[in-house]
Amino acid sequence: TRFERRREALARRQRQLERLRSVPAMTRDEVRIVLQCNLELPTELALARQVGAEGVGLLRSEFLYMNRDTLPSEDEQYVAFRDILEGMEGRPVTVRTLDVGSDKLAYSLGEHISPSANPALGLRAIRLSLKVRKLLETQLAAMLRASAHGKLRILLPMINTSSEIKRVREAMDKVVRRLERKRAAMADPLPELGIMIETPGAALSADSLVKNCDYFSIGTNDLTMYTLAADRGDEQVAHLYDPLHPAVLRLIRYAAQAGAAAGIPVNLCGEMAGDPRLTALLLGLGLRDLSMAAPNLPRVKQRVLGLEMTDAQRRAEQIMEQSDSGVIAALLDDFNTLE
Ligand code: PEP
Ligand code: MG
Repeated sequence: TRFERRREALARRQRQLERLRSVPAMTRDEVRIVLQCNLELPTELALARQVGAEGVGLLRSEFLYMNRDTLPSEDEQYVAFRDILEGMEGRPVTVRTLDVGSDKLAYSLGEHISPSANPALGLRAIRLSLKVRKLLETQLAAMLRASAHGKLRILLPMINTSSEIKRVREAMDKVVRRLERKRAAMADPLPELGIMIETPGAALSADSLVKNCDYFSIGTNDLTMYTLAADRGDEQVAHLYDPLHPAVLRLIRYAAQAGAAAGIPVNLCGEMAGDPRLTALLLGLGLRDLSMAAPNLPRVKQRVLGLEMTDAQRRAEQIMEQSDSGVIAALLDDFNTLE
């Protein structure tokens, strides 16, 4: 009987959350928040639509390279990106270039990646794409062609320096010229080029990186790992992996403020975005655009609807004065139960 009651309560709650699907995410004092979904696989698109995602804030393109021996062609990638854009019916889709290496592995890339003593600090993500230009150029061509079918944004993982962004822009210019010669359709203007802020180096130089990109997306999964030197996939140090560590929060705030000062959009797409317990803090730190796994979106939206932005900002200020993540968690829990 107890479990039946629990099942009914859960189903009731689920129905309530489903009713939020078409309700805009707005705080009680009418600050509009954008809630998007992260996709790892195209099959997740249906759920993203079902929960009313306003866009795909992060399409991880690694799925195209996984569980196979050969590399995906430009056409194959183009079709995959186009289908997701069409599935989102005009809403923005942010496609990230390949982010393999470290925690994300793909056999098809084996020949390009040598074993490394420190793979998280090695040839991964944009570093690999810039070394093996064919990988980057094929992806950029697929994205540029897909951009004719919707609002596609290009996102670069693991950026640390402006020179990395400039080298991608040069590669993109070359690909655009090639596609123009072939009279391929592309978006006009060309898609925006944004960067992940997911290393302390990127966060602390956000005020300079901002000059070379169109938007930021803060990746707190890696940012936490690199800031605290605690591997996100190693359970032996899981207790040290703490996104509420003041150092992580200061880096998030710094990057968000640098983006806001330069007038570019700033999104946050790490797991923190999908935790309703942290929503007040992230909004209080200035974030207005969160991207998360689809199942988390309804509960985050519910949290946004119940929040007063001015209160969240005040609590975030108090939190940023703290030096202990236990106190920070307690201040947040206290705020969440009060509201
Ligand atoms: C992140 O690092 O926070 C992020 C969103 O990227 P991924 O989890 O794919 O590394
Ligand atoms: Mg990352």
